[in-house]
Amino acid sequence: MTAAALEVLKSVYGYDAFRGPQAGIVDHVIAGRNAFVLMPTGGGKSLCYQIPAIVRPGMGLVVSPLLALMADQVAALRQAGVKAAALNSDLDPDERRALWSAVETGALDLLYVAPETLMRPDVLERLRRARLSLIAIDEAHCLSQWGHDFRPSYRQLDGLVRQFPATPRMALTATADEPTRAEILAHLDIAVADSFVAGFDRPNIRYAIEEKDNPRAQLKEFLARHEGESGIVYCLSKRKTEETAAWLRGEGTDALSYHAGMDKAAREASQRRFQRGEAVVMVATIAFGMGIDKPDVRFVAHVDLPGSIEAYYQETGRAGRDGLPSDTLMLYGHEDIALRSRFIEESDAPDERKRMERQKLDALLGLAETASCRRQVLLSYFGDRCEPCGNCDTCLEPPKLFDGTVAAQKALSCIYRTGERFGQAYVVDVLLGAENDRIRQFGHDRVSTFGIGTEHDNRGWRAILRQLIALRFVDVDLAGHGGLSIAPAGRDFLRDKPTLMLRQPRAARARRHRLERG
Ligand code: ADP
Ligand code: ZN
Repeated sequence: MTAAALEVLKSVYGYDAFRGPQAGIVDHVIAGRNAFVLMPTGGGKSLCYQIPAIVRPGMGLVVSPLLALMADQVAALRQAGVKAAALNSDLDPDERRALWSAVETGALDLLYVAPETLMRPDVLERLRRARLSLIAIDEAHCLSQWGHDFRPSYRQLDGLVRQFPATPRMALTATADEPTRAEILAHLDIAVADSFVAGFDRPNIRYAIEEKDNPRAQLKEFLARHEGESGIVYCLSKRKTEETAAWLRGEGTDALSYHAGMDKAAREASQRRFQRGEAVVMVATIAFGMGIDKPDVRFVAHVDLPGSIEAYYQETGRAGRDGLPSDTLMLYGHEDIALRSRFIEESDAPDERKRMERQKLDALLGLAETASCRRQVLLSYFGDRCEPCGNCDTCLEPPKLFDGTVAAQKALSCIYRTGERFGQAYVVDVLLGAENDRIRQFGHDRVSTFGIGTEHDNRGWRAILRQLIALRFVDVDLAGHGGLSIAPAGRDFLRDKPTLMLRQPRAARARRHRLERG
C-alpha cells in the first residue's frame, strides 16, 4: 500500500484502515491500471476512485447520474479540504468560467459530471487539454441494457475509451449479475483480470417474503416489530405511497411519502426529515433510492413486487449500512405478477428486451417461491454463494413442502423431449397436453411427455419450473429466446432420482397461518 494513499485515508476521511478490497483497488488504480469494481451498497466504493484521483497527478473525472448525489459528495470533499467541483447545468456563466479556468490550471483534484454533459463535444474538447488522472464511472450498470436501470446517455460513454485511451478507467457498481458485468467490461474495454468483485452477502439483513394476504395487516404486523426505528416502505405507485403514508399517520406512525410526482422542495424536505429522524417511516416509490446515506435504516418493506432481483437486492440493501441487525419483508400477489407481466407486454421495447424482462421477472418469482434459503438463491443470482443462513424466513420457518420428485422428473423429461429449446409457456402446454398448432407443428403432441402433467394446473407447473430454475436444475437461455435446458444439476437429478421436496404450488396451498415472530 502506498504511504500517500494511507495518508489521504487518514487526513481526508479520518479512517485508520481500508476496508475489504479497497486497499487492493486503490493500489491497482494508483499504478495506472483500469478497474471494474463490484461492491454492494455501503461497501465503500467512493474511496476507491477518490483516493487515487487525489494521489495521482492530474484531475479525476467522475461520471455520476444524479445531480443531488454529486452535490453531496462535492460538498463533503470540499469540507475535508479536497479540491472538488461539479460541472452541471445549474452553474451560471461566471461559475462556469471559474470552473474551466480551475480545470485548465490543474487546480482541481476531482470533477464530477453527468454523462450527457460530459459527452458534449465542447466539454470533451476542453477536457482533452486538461491532465486527467483517471475516469471513474459510478453506477456503471446504467450503461447495460441488461441491467435494471439502463440510461441511454451512459451508452455513449464508450466513446471515452477512444477519446482518452491512456487514462485509467474505472467502472463501479453495486448491482451486476453476470450479463451486466460482461456488458460493462466490453463497453469500457476493461479486462476481466482488472475486476474486483466483493462479496454480496449482507449477513445483518434478514430476508422474508410472503404472499399478499391482507397487505395492510401484514405491514402493520411488520412495523409493530420496529417501533421507534426508521425504515422504508416501497410501493409501486405514487398514489399508493400517499395513501399508505396517510393511513400509517392515522395509525399513529410518523410516516412521510416520497415520489417523483412531488415537487422538488417537498421531496427534499421529506428526504431531509428521514435522514435526520429517529423513528420515521418513509413510504416511497423507487424514486427514493440512490444517494440515501442513512446508516441506521432498520427495515425495508416492499408492499408490491419489486422490479427484479437486482432492484430487490439494492432496495433491501439500504437497510443496515451500519452493520446492525436489520429486517426486510416483501409481499407479492397474483395481481403484482399480472401487472408486471402487463407492463412488459405493453411496453414499446423490442422483443428481445421484453424477453429479458420476462426472464428477470421469473427469476424474482423463483426467489419468492423458493423452499431453500433466500440468501442462497439471492447470492447465487449474483454468482456468489453461502451456507443456509439461519437469518431468512425459509431458514427460520420452513415452508410447506410436497414431494416434487415426480413433478420434477416430468418437467425435466418434457424439456428434454422437446429438444431443450422452448420456453416455459410451451413446456407447460406440452405437459398439460394443450391442443395448439405450434405443438402439432413440431410434432410434440406425439412425445411421451405430452399431457402427462394434468395433476397440476398451469400456475402450478410454472411455480414448479421456477423452483427448478432457482435450484439451477434448469438453465434459461438468457441471451436467446428464453429456451429452457437441463443444467448439470438437473442431469444429476435425473440420473440419481433423489427425493426432491418443493414448495407447494400456490393454487393448492392452504392459506398459511402466520406465526407471531420476534
Ligand atoms: P458505496 O458507494 O459503496 O455505497 P460509500 O462509498 O458511500 O459506499 O461508503 C459507505 C460508508 O462507508 C460511508 O459512510 C463511508 O464513509 C464508509 N467507509 C468507506 N470506507 C471506509 C473505511 N475504510 N473505513 C471506515 N468507513 C468507511
Ligand atoms: Zn436462509
